[in-house]
Amino acid sequence: MGIKVNSIEQPLNLDQPDNKIMLAIYLAVPEVENDKISIRTTEGSRRANKEGCWTSTAPIGYKNQRTSEGKASLVKSEKSELVKEAFEYITKGFPADEVRRIMHKKGLNISKSRFHLLIKNPVYNGKVKVPAYKNEDEYYAEGLHDAIVSDQLFNRVQDILKGRKRSKKKWSTKNENLPLRGHILCSKCGRILTGSASTGRWGGKYYYYHCRLGCKERFKVDQAHDMLDDFLSKCTIDKGISDLYYDIVSERYGNNKQVRSTKMNRINKEIKELKEIISRAEDNLFEGKIGIATFEKGKVKYLKKITDLEFDHSELKNHGLNFMTQIKTALKIFENLKNLYNNASWEGKQMLMGSIFTEKIIFEKNRCRTLLNMF
Ligand SMILES: [Zn+2]
Repeated sequence: MGIKVNSIEQPLNLDQPDNKIMLAIYLAVPEVENDKISIRTTEGSRRANKEGCWTSTAPIGYKNQRTSEGKASLVKSEKSELVKEAFEYITKGFPADEVRRIMHKKGLNISKSRFHLLIKNPVYNGKVKVPAYKNEDEYYAEGLHDAIVSDQLFNRVQDILKGRKRSKKKWSTKNENLPLRGHILCSKCGRILTGSASTGRWGGKYYYYHCRLGCKERFKVDQAHDMLDDFLSKCTIDKGISDLYYDIVSERYGNNKQVRSTKMNRINKEIKELKEIISRAEDNLFEGKIGIATFEKGKVKYLKKITDLEFDHSELKNHGLNFMTQIKTALKIFENLKNLYNNASWEGKQMLMGSIFTEKIIFEKNRCRTLLNMF
């Protein structure tokens, strides 16, 4: 049937067994190739967020601007009044999509999905998100910037939105005949397909996944499930290849305790040497052999190296075995994906679909392909 899987960020050709395993690893451990620099940036920007700084691009209604103390923050832009008006419209009982249309005419050009995020974004009542990190949970800090909407208005809108969400829940109710309901995106309009039964001429029930409100997209349940079956078979990894890959990964990522501890010792030694260099430079500074500028410049350089090494050290310490356990689990799942899915309960199917295809799947008639964005 020619079903294809793909990661949007990095297309994989699944005819290659290697790629199937790469897929398994992508799915299981998104942070496999986590760039150290990005982690360090995360730490820095998180610290700034705690102080109320805004460290990313300004959301609509604001402009990026530093405070008089030089801290990254926001000031209201000329669109801020429109943003406030949007919140007010919601409290008057207008549906969000309607409000978006009204605001669009007034000059607030924003996509549907971004609008839905906008009216939930606590930046507008003056908050800054401090993302979850390591042991700390996500929370909102008091921002340095001025709020566009009051706490009262913001919370009122959130209550209304939550209320509407509850009333929509009927689409994801449990139905054993429609395990994929809520997981398929319409290839024509991008909405999530729902499913329902229609009664045939002789009283038999026929189940369909279908789109809503004027969109004609529609699949017989059997057809959709065959397509999924086919796709899951393609994702399945041979046991031999799986074992081989485990060995390769374990070599590459240092599952071997010996290798890891050797590396960690080497890093410790390097850190010690760098600290000694700094201390010698201090001596030279006191003895007047080098100037303060030279000293500071060198010290910054060596401290940065030390930070990098300390980071590598903690990576090695934390990652190792835990990581390989995750890989093993992922490989086991992919050795057995199709059976696992087909034998799973409705809840199990929901879990598998939800965790593997986090961004839903798309079935297209004729070409029958499945697209997924893995993260
Ligand atoms: Zn549709």
